[in-house]
Amino acid sequence: MGDRERRREKRRPPAVGRLLALLFWLAVLGWAGWQLQLRRERGEWPWTLWSSRGLGGVVVLPRSSWGAAAGRETPPRMDRPRRITLHHLGGRAVEELDRVEAGRTIKAIQQDHVGRRGWDDIGYHYVVDRSGRVWEGRPITRVGAHAGSAEANEGNIGVLLLGNFDLQAPAPRQLESARRLLDALRRKHGIARSSVSSHDDVRRGCGLAPTSCPGKGLAEWLERYREGGESSAMLEGPCPVSGAPDPRLVQSLPSKSRGLAEVRS
Ligand SMILES: [Zn+2]
Repeated sequence: MGDRERRREKRRPPAVGRLLALLFWLAVLGWAGWQLQLRRERGEWPWTLWSSRGLGGVVVLPRSSWGAAAGRETPPRMDRPRRITLHHLGGRAVEELDRVEAGRTIKAIQQDHVGRRGWDDIGYHYVVDRSGRVWEGRPITRVGAHAGSAEANEGNIGVLLLGNFDLQAPAPRQLESARRLLDALRRKHGIARSSVSSHDDVRRGCGLAPTSCPGKGLAEWLERYREGGESSAMLEGPCPVSGAPDPRLVQSLPSKSRGLAEVRS
């Protein structure tokens, strides 16, 4: 055996090293398979691997995935979201839907908002279905139409959970996705837990008539979510979260309302 061959012999990794390398690649493959399986269960596989948009680890199905029509007109810009409002769909109870049916439901909401109500686009920024899929609604860079008035919608991200939570409980996977979405949005935009509100609280805070939205089941969950973190961060935005509106604020706000009126109560 020449010198060169002896050196090559030395460089060859020992059995333990080879075993560790094998285990590493098995773990990588296992992890990839598990990720694919998770996506498949959510009905997001395989095409969403390249068409979904991530938001702090949350997969957001893009507008194209529910066949969104282009907005009628471009809504005003929303440069700095400061609060988040939760809604339920209301009406009849909603069962777990497959991806195609859920997409059709969101499309129908857009048609209702644009066709019947004459708004610029679907009013909500995000929709969470009962399987926990998160769907993109109105682009986050645009002011939504979900809270009840121009001032209530300003800087306000609208999140809709499919269901009627006066008639049914929110689904566990839906709540888990909602929690992850809210956390990701709060991290991204620097929004305090206390600035995540129910639709009813926002309406009352802005001096509007109360609403049953987002239903008892979701309102109770939201209370617990709000208590889960930082205590009393300053409320930002023009309307107090709950209680009587500050009359000085209400009077000083513009009363323009096209495309920014009530969505559902
Ligand atoms: Zn609502």
